Amino acid sequence: MPVERKMFAQLYRTLPDFICPQCQRGRLSRMKGSFKECRPEHLNDYEAQRAGVTYSRYAAIAICSDRKCGEVVIESGSFVDIGDFDEDGRFVEFAPNSFFPAPHMFQIPAKVPDKVRGPLSSAFELYWIDVDAAASKVRTSAEYLLDVLKVARKRKKKSGNGKVFISFADRIKLLKHPNAREDWLDALRLVGNMGTHREIKQEQFFDMLDIYEALLRELYDNSADNASKLSATIKRKHGRR
Ligand SMILES: [Zn+2]
Repeated sequence: MPVERKMFAQLYRTLPDFICPQCQRGRLSRMKGSFKECRPEHLNDYEAQRAGVTYSRYAAIAICSDRKCGEVVIESGSFVDIGDFDEDGRFVEFAPNSFFPAPHMFQIPAKVPDKVRGPLSSAFELYWIDVDAAASKVRTSAEYLLDVLKVARKRKKKSGNGKVFISFADRIKLLKHPNAREDWLDALRLVGNMGTHREIKQEQFFDMLDIYEALLRELYDNSADNASKLSATIKRKHGRR
């Protein structure tokens, strides 16, 4: 399933109940009484008070709704309250910046090796504070995937002794696997060059995850249906760089 983009929007009027990272079934709901907020003085200065705006930091504990699972997630972030805004009343906007463990942005197939899964889980954690770093972790995961698929990292020098590293792009060309599609990995490489604006970065990151999920499903679930279409769309959108 493509990433639920609204769910991972990073800015929220109300905090969503994410899917549990452990069981992938239950929803994470905040434990009663666990939500704590504080207002740093340096943010809530005279100007802010005059404008009727308050800036807060928060922390909360969320528990999986599936009792058999019982996963516990610690989350934190900030929010701004700008008071009466429109007919909906107060405008409050939350910006979470950490979850431990972090909700998965797509369901990783059970058979994906730990070496490939590890950096992907880190990407889901980093996403909340640094999209560039998260994208780089997805790319690392894809490079490890090439290792698992027995694609060499080094080759012999054309002249002289010794070996040199093979670029990610060239490693993709070396990939020989009945289910691995070279154009999918190539599309991943293309969106690895992230844009500069937050919204563009976020959009590119979601595209990257969509195609990587399709690829992992094809390799470890054999149920990918639209990965080729996705890779073609991503190539069209971002162009060859
Ligand atoms: Zn759970």
